[in-house]
Amino acid sequence: MKELIGKCKCCSKEIYCLDGFFNGIHTAEKEIYCFECQEILILNKDNPQS
Ligand SMILES: [Zn+2]
Repeated sequence: MKELIGKCKCCSKEIYCLDGFFNGIHTAEKEIYCFECQEILILNKDNPQS
């Protein structure tokens, strides 16, 4: 079972739900990001405007 959820807001990579496993993340703003972009977002949050 492979269900297209949407596209990463950052890099436009397609995000799928594979057998119940979501290969990306939903933010509180209901935006979708892949794991790679999520890591970048976390890094940016940890180091704001440094
Ligand atoms: Zn991405």
